[in-house]
Amino acid sequence: MSALVLDGRKIGDQIRHELRPRIETMVQVGHVPGLAVVLVGENPASDIYVRNKVKASEELGIRSFQYTPPASTSTEELLGLIHSLNGNPEVDGILVQMPLPEQIDAQKILFAVDPAKDADGFHPLNVGNLVANRPAPRSCTPAGIMELLKRNKIPIKGQNAVVVGRSDIVGKPISLLLLHQSATVTICHSRTTDLEGECRRADILVAALGRPAFITRDFIKPGAVVIDVGINRVVDPIAVAQLFGHDQSRLAAFSKNGSVIVGDVDPRAMAEVSSAYTPVPGGVGPLTIAMLMANTVTLAEQHCNYAALR
Ligand code: NDP
Repeated sequence: MSALVLDGRKIGDQIRHELRPRIETMVQVGHVPGLAVVLVGENPASDIYVRNKVKASEELGIRSFQYTPPASTSTEELLGLIHSLNGNPEVDGILVQMPLPEQIDAQKILFAVDPAKDADGFHPLNVGNLVANRPAPRSCTPAGIMELLKRNKIPIKGQNAVVVGRSDIVGKPISLLLLHQSATVTICHSRTTDLEGECRRADILVAALGRPAFITRDFIKPGAVVIDVGINRVVDPIAVAQLFGHDQSRLAAFSKNGSVIVGDVDPRAMAEVSSAYTPVPGGVGPLTIAMLMANTVTLAEQHCNYAALR
């Protein structure tokens, strides 16, 4: 039987569709939800992410405020901007695009964002809420993965979930979210001694290590659900031929663009061995933006309710 493709574009559209009436209700009472996006310096990859986030906001009727301080900005200057956004009632959510230039103390910046405007769920108070399983904005990519699992009715309770990667933005939060749904969770990283063996025990395998097609056939238990978070650009024609020799459309895209995007899992192995998987692109990626929109709308509703009580 062929594997179920977990379509992130479709679920992302559903999530956005569900947000529309919530946004309209706020607009009717005089508040347009607002998202401030801060992009420091020039970084082509970040630039694309930010453009997509701004576009998604505007399509939904969320007002976007874009700030692009130069790469030479100091921590103090950036803190000044964050404080002014914290105090701006038109701004419900604040997102500071990572990575920041080296001279900036990224932790100080994340701490400075008002936890009630923390659209990315990176503030330590909200990380604490995640650990304690209390309501709070959640990191967007892991929250999107949970929506994808839930809306595809993938069982989680009692399943062995193996997460490869322990970053603050993906690996750790997705491990906690799976744990809160009563999965038995194993977190792997670059010092894990038998990565292949750990992965092969997974009923749900989440790959978030940032290594193109690193997870091969031997890592995947037949019938497992595979969530491929990785986004890697591959430019080597030999690697592309090995990965996509079977896929004419991807080979054509490579000839045209000179690169292809591949996840952390070998795409062919994933499609052939798993029972369900997220394609790259079109799996986890679209959900990250949808959940950013969802976080912004929820924060805006909280601000509206708070204003109504005063
Ligand atoms: P990080 O680089 O912050 O973390 C990578 C993690 O993977 C680390 O914990 C590292 O271990 C582990 N790792 C690296 N190499 C290996 C290895 N050979 N074996 C086992 N573990 C390894 O990455 P992110 O979490 O930020 O991102 C991971 C991937 O997900 C990237 O491809 C990124 O582009 C993508 N991504 C996609 C998003 C989306 O919307 N789809 C959003 C965010 C990220 P250690 O801690 O020991 O160094």
